[in-house]
Amino acid sequence: MASAYPKYMEDPRVEDTLPVGIEFFRRKLDMDISCGMCGASNQNLEIVEHLFRDCEYTRRIWAGSELGIRVENVGSLSVTDWIIDWIKLLSRKEGGERRVIMFVVVLWGLWNLRNRVKFDALELN
Ligand SMILES: [Zn+2]
Repeated sequence: MASAYPKYMEDPRVEDTLPVGIEFFRRKLDMDISCGMCGASNQNLEIVEHLFRDCEYTRRIWAGSELGIRVENVGSLSVTDWIIDWIKLLSRKEGGERRVIMFVVVLWGLWNLRNRVKFDALELN
């Protein structure tokens, strides 16, 4: 039976939903498509994997968070699958619900920080 919802509503993937730099490029918008978090000199394309996981600045935030997440050996894992894996792992630990909330708060904080860098010209050190 066909669903009443579009595919992205049934199986939402971070890669398909957030307006990051690569989407600006695909939609031919005249906007900066590089990651502003790790510095203009790096010229890293802003894709969700980079923004939420692979960016040097993001890695430091994850490592310095209460969760102490070290981003390594992720290979070609999508950011959606990486997030799902961490939520499953954190939820199985003692205090899992609190850890999952902390994980989501860091994700939300990264998105807000990115927006402040991108649109409010916030400078990171
Ligand atoms: Zn970056």
